[in-house]
Amino acid sequence: MDVLTPTVCPGAICPDLVEGSDLADYGKYLADESRRSGTADALAFPRSTAEVCGAVNWAKDRDLGITVSGARTGIAAGAVPDGGLAVSLERMNRVLGVRTAGDGTFLVRCQSGVLLSDLQHSVQSGTFADAASFDAESLAAVESLKTQSLFYPPDPTETSATVGGTVACNASGAHTFRYGPTRPYVHGLTVVLGDGRVLALERGRDVVEQSGEFLLATADGQEAVVRIPEYTWPTTKNSAGYYAAEGMDILDFFVGSEGTLGIVTEIEVRAIPAPEMSCAVVTFWTSEEQAVAFTETLQDGRDMLSVEAIEYVGPKALSMLRNRRTQLGATSGVPGCLPETAHCAIYLDVGTSRDSYADALSKLAGVIEDHGGSPSTCWSAVERDERERLRHFRHALPETVNAHIAEIRKTEPSITKLGTDMAVPGGRLVEAIGIYRSALREAGLDYVIFGHIGDNHLHVNILPRNAAEYRTGWDLYHRFADAVVGMGGSPAAEHGIGKLKTDFLRTLFHDEGVRQMLQIKAAFDPHSRLGKGTLFA
Ligand SMILES: Cc1cc2nc3c(=O)[nH]c(=O)nc-3n(C[C@H](O)[C@H](O)[C@H](O)COP(=O)(O)OP(=O)(O)OC[C@H]3O[C@@H](n4cnc5c(N)ncnc54)[C@H](O)[C@@H]3O)c2cc1C
Repeated sequence: MDVLTPTVCPGAICPDLVEGSDLADYGKYLADESRRSGTADALAFPRSTAEVCGAVNWAKDRDLGITVSGARTGIAAGAVPDGGLAVSLERMNRVLGVRTAGDGTFLVRCQSGVLLSDLQHSVQSGTFADAASFDAESLAAVESLKTQSLFYPPDPTETSATVGGTVACNASGAHTFRYGPTRPYVHGLTVVLGDGRVLALERGRDVVEQSGEFLLATADGQEAVVRIPEYTWPTTKNSAGYYAAEGMDILDFFVGSEGTLGIVTEIEVRAIPAPEMSCAVVTFWTSEEQAVAFTETLQDGRDMLSVEAIEYVGPKALSMLRNRRTQLGATSGVPGCLPETAHCAIYLDVGTSRDSYADALSKLAGVIEDHGGSPSTCWSAVERDERERLRHFRHALPETVNAHIAEIRKTEPSITKLGTDMAVPGGRLVEAIGIYRSALREAGLDYVIFGHIGDNHLHVNILPRNAAEYRTGWDLYHRFADAVVGMGGSPAAEHGIGKLKTDFLRTLFHDEGVRQMLQIKAAFDPHSRLGKGTLFA
């Protein structure tokens, strides 16, 4: 059996390291979008893998824990430090090169602090701000990219996330319905382990053998046997815990590990051909039953109808958007012509070849009519700017909820965002929605439901008015998690476990699964230096 051997990195002094009273100016690095905030003894801003090693060695010498920070758009507090050294990767923001692999796959290599929006724009436009530093192979690949139409599919709603953060959370989004989450697009990773050594991993090359084991060289020259955990990974979307599957690539342990196994410093991702024609459509429905039945038909006919994304705007969420429009007018991102009879809405993206475009749209119109909807009241957009406006209609929802919570926190600072992130297997959506709605009604809580209905993954955002309702909301959240796991789903489908949902890791994988995860952690991070309080309470 080959031994996976991290390289020893002497490290480079990280010149941008802040300590002591100077930290007072860096408060934003102690919190994320969950609105929880923590503390740190020091903060480092490395610019290279060697400087990350230097920062890790600095922490090691002082026996400090390390928390990795991307853009802190996370909503589970994974990037919120619990003392020790916080390592911000925001200055590691260079695209390092591009290449075409032997099979024609187009690969982009970047530092982990590159913003997702910048990476997506570069791949789509073929323009790279760092091209001046590219080698000849990269420059040739860029020229070839300009003649093709490619894109990088992972699309969490918040595109100001870093590419490293999306890898660490295995982020997903609306287009996961057609293209899957971040994981399959990660081709290579460079990872600094908690002892300062460096692993360079490549998909297809560094694979766990059939025995389910691999050997990892330890810092003292020994070889540790590492076993793939035996738990069953949910078939739904899931971002809870360490991935496990027969014959898996070793880099897949790091994808979704939320900064607890290693610091991802460089990433090679795969871009794929973009559809020739795209259309965004918002359909309106007079009942939730109609909207769900429509979704199920689209799920069954996903290939025939060329649907890339199916997103739900529930009744109260639609009211929230109506109010937003009333308050903010045209700047709200919500068009003024919301049909008055609309009870809820489904947003769709359709992506096809030029030849099948008209056919796909006409079939879609037929499905809308079959379910009692009206194609004539739908909104549709073909041009890129117009499609972006419709996307913003859907994306305005999490922003509105966050603003609402921020307002409540002014009088009830103990309240944080209380949004569920649960996916259920196909065919269980109606049952899941029924459980959510009846429990919330019974408890008298205010809430909105929206999200990735195509993946049977809805966000129930509970809107507590005071601390007592907040506590009730958390109790319900736990009840929902039990119900969803009972159906074979995931209680943390895309936002990760972070520090706020550690109970759910046990709900999903039980004590034995968590024990096996801790064994993986002990192999890659033997001194438990990374991500204190994240995943494991
Ligand atoms: C309005 C809004 C909408 C959102 N919608 C979605 C959505 O649709 N889908 C979705 O998946 N998420 C969504 N998110 C959550 C968030 O954007 C994602 O989790 C994103 O992947 C976090 O990236 P980040 O760079 O901000 O990471 P951070 O928040 O900084 O960190 C997240 C976790 O990853 C770890 N980490 C970060 N970088 C690295 C690295 N280089 N190496 C190792 N560990 C690292 C951190 O320690 C932490 O545990 C949303 C957030 C907001 C605010």
